Amino acid sequence: MAEFILEARDVFFDYPDGTSALKGVSLGIEKGKKVAVLGPNGAGKSTLFLHFNGVYRPKSGKVFFSGSEVRYNHSSMMALRKNVGIVFQDPDAQLFSASVYQEISFGPLNLGLNEEQVKERVNRAMAATGITELGEKPTHLLSYGEKKLVSIADILAMEPSVIICDEPAACLDPGHTARVLELFDRINRNGTTVVMSTHDVDMAYSWSEYVYVMHGGKIAGEGTPQAVFQDDGLLKLAGLQKPLLVDLSEHMRRKGLLAENSGLPRSRSEFLQLLDSR
Ligand code: ADP
Repeated sequence: MAEFILEARDVFFDYPDGTSALKGVSLGIEKGKKVAVLGPNGAGKSTLFLHFNGVYRPKSGKVFFSGSEVRYNHSSMMALRKNVGIVFQDPDAQLFSASVYQEISFGPLNLGLNEEQVKERVNRAMAATGITELGEKPTHLLSYGEKKLVSIADILAMEPSVIICDEPAACLDPGHTARVLELFDRINRNGTTVVMSTHDVDMAYSWSEYVYVMHGGKIAGEGTPQAVFQDDGLLKLAGLQKPLLVDLSEHMRRKGLLAENSGLPRSRSEFLQLLDSR
């Protein structure tokens, strides 16, 4: 049976103004996987994520971390925040320290590590995100892309077992986006579970191993990227486009240019290989 590192069971949540943001969400994030959560603005993705590090508490329903029900006491919250790192969509909402080095050292210092251990973690996180040369720079003088990398380094330095990233590619140029995805792949290979929300269906299709689709505070569908992105009804309901590779492959199958039983290519090179093998 699949081992879930994070799980929501029938979670309902209302904001103080009465907005029902989650209306019975059940989902499981399998340990060690790369998971994408898709859905239009307002679907409830960020609200769900904030349940996973204990910032929000369900009105009803339950949240589990590593098989244990999350309790809203001090020790349970400390364990959850140490293990579940959230990179917010807007880095300005996350960064608050004077320099990049201070910013990234804040989390490890709070974990009670000594100065040497903190330094090691900060240097490792800066190297992994390629921002070592920015260490002494004031965070408010960074470009948007640099701030995003610092906000990711912030979370990496905590060495969590799960990283949740809200819209990692929002407002990033292709170079920075590729760097972030490579980084996620690398930490995933080392055992970290990575969850991201995104509007970018092409990225979700190529990158993820499992996909959840949210709509109107509920899970509208789930499955492998191949299954989810061939489900026209689900895509229409959630207002999602078909990834270009799926669209082209389906079109070519209809025209008899690709065999019906040929697997769906997940990358440009797989697509070209499929064409060349005809
Ligand atoms: P997503 O991340 O999928 O865009 P959100 O979780 O941010 O969706 O929002 C889900 C719903 O909750 C939306 O209807 C949004 O307007 C509402 N919402 C989000 N934050 C607040 C808040 N602080 N107060 C009231 N309503 C909110």
